[in-house]
Amino acid sequence: MSAGGFGSGGGIASERIESFSYTPARRLRPNAKVLPEHARGHNRALVLQTLFASGAMSRADIARATGLTRVSISDLVASLIADNLIVEVGLRETSRPGKPATLIDINRDEFQIVGLDLSDTEVFRGAVLTLDGEVVTMLEVPLDGATGVDAIAKAVALAADLVEEATVEVLGIGVGSPGVVDMTGTVRSAPNLGWTDVDLQGAIEQVAQVPVLVANDANAAVLAEYSFGGADGDLMLVSVGNGVGAGLLVGGHPLFGSRFAAGEIGHVVVGTDGGPLCACGKRGCLEAWLAVPHLRELLAAAEASDLPTAEVEQRREEILRAAGERLGVSLAAIVGALNLSEIIVSGPEELLAGVLLDAAIETVRARTMTEFHGGVQIRMSEQGADIVLRGTAVMVLSGLLGVS
Ligand SMILES: [Zn+2]
Repeated sequence: MSAGGFGSGGGIASERIESFSYTPARRLRPNAKVLPEHARGHNRALVLQTLFASGAMSRADIARATGLTRVSISDLVASLIADNLIVEVGLRETSRPGKPATLIDINRDEFQIVGLDLSDTEVFRGAVLTLDGEVVTMLEVPLDGATGVDAIAKAVALAADLVEEATVEVLGIGVGSPGVVDMTGTVRSAPNLGWTDVDLQGAIEQVAQVPVLVANDANAAVLAEYSFGGADGDLMLVSVGNGVGAGLLVGGHPLFGSRFAAGEIGHVVVGTDGGPLCACGKRGCLEAWLAVPHLRELLAAAEASDLPTAEVEQRREEILRAAGERLGVSLAAIVGALNLSEIIVSGPEELLAGVLLDAAIETVRARTMTEFHGGVQIRMSEQGADIVLRGTAVMVLSGLLGVS
């Protein structure tokens, strides 16, 4: 169905830019530094976040949980009910005398989110998701080598199709795109798709008539780990596929960088000893060591050789260990600079889990300070193939409602 009350011009849309920080609202709390004109929006987000995290509550419960007064909560709840964002869901069952409290909750059944994952080189993938990040419907469109305006058209059509598929009102559309994406939803550069300064947010919004948020795919994925994977707030998600990218959260806040390219570690050279030639023209970029096609090619060559099985297996381990060590060298400096608590690797398990990840962990341990960095957890993601889609749902919740 088409969009309803959240189209451009609605109250939510006008608040969007100001709140568009992906700020994980799990950390939102009353803050003396909040300016008066921002306080109301902040408190609305706080109420929504409290309900989002805890489920149905009474007004008194919300007042206790947020530290706001009962009067403020009544007022905020009334305005959120008027906006259809929250709803009364019944009375609390109680054996105590007196009038049972009315429970309220986020209007979970009345809204869905559309998410797009454009990170695969073969297909654009999209889904209708619940507010809790569960996939309701999934659609795919083959890219067939499309680039430039043709690829934009495919993304726009996929978004529009998914809005049609939604069974209730669509709150917003989140898009995880490869490449460098700025805060206005413009893809500054995505070489594989032939995109330079593509206003993807505008292109999709114009057709779908729903608020759209666009981010780099790894930046979307890291939000899924934080909100649904229970990750800590000082986190890096390393996404290994045809390229290598990363999304960073520091103190629970996404890191975008001065040119929106924070986490673009794929084309940084690892070491001073050369290495495989990279598509970018340099030798020894992390991506040239670690990208999935490169690893598969090396492993296939080892397997196609006439070597005895044991030696093929040994060769396989060497290839994976070398890639893991280079990953570890890259990560060690970042762990040192940011004092991260967790690094999560996302990509094909049969390549990355085991020898490769173990070598990366060993290398990070050997190259950092045990006292400060010894506790860093390095592990595979458990969010599965839908990680970017689930992350786009967090983007929409965070960007439009201030919750995650
Ligand atoms: Zn490169």
